Amino acid sequence: MTDVPDTAPHEQLLVGLVRLGQALRINSYRNAGPYRLSPLQADILTILRGDQRPRRPSELTHALTSSPPTISDAVKTLTTKGLVERRRDPSDARAVFLTLTPDGHTEADRLARMPAVFGEAMAALSPDDVAAMLRGTSTMIRSLQENQAIPVTKMCLTCELFRPEAHPSSDRPHHCAFLDSPLADLELRLDCSDHHTARARPAAAGDTRGHAHPDG
Ligand code: SF4
Repeated sequence: MTDVPDTAPHEQLLVGLVRLGQALRINSYRNAGPYRLSPLQADILTILRGDQRPRRPSELTHALTSSPPTISDAVKTLTTKGLVERRRDPSDARAVFLTLTPDGHTEADRLARMPAVFGEAMAALSPDDVAAMLRGTSTMIRSLQENQAIPVTKMCLTCELFRPEAHPSSDRPHHCAFLDSPLADLELRLDCSDHHTARARPAAAGDTRGHAHPDG
């Protein structure tokens, strides 16, 4: 009998995650839609749709691990396409806020629909598989965030209102203090608009002197 080559499960999992990332990226290029969106432009619309309060450009830069000029160029293109609107911040004349236009909402809704090929792949998973994958990816993302390898996202595992294992003998063992409801692994959120996190200390007055405004 031939020995099975050494295959460390963690390495195999990483290979699988890379393959899934490639599939999502390829799909993003194929799903450019009527506005011929680049993957970055599509990501910006998706973020603006996810949390509908007006967003500053610096928030997009942080969330997408990008640079201010790259985000600024993409936002300009989205504005020209009539999908994003820039408004002056009434409390800071140098800063702007970004929101979706009605066409931007329609396009962001189109992007949010799961492509059939991914729906089919997901349908092959049992609810237990989905719960285990959600738990596993949430745990990995939290660790990467703690090590500053990726930006912090609004998920249950980093939320002040998340109470893990608050109901240990239940099939919905966690608790969301915002919803005041138990949560099963299957209900863990990776992008929650109600996420609650401690606010960073505001910059001291004069901190930005001599620098371009990050949200101008
Ligand atoms: S508010 Fe949202 S992120 Fe926070 S625990 Fe509840 S569901 Fe999770």
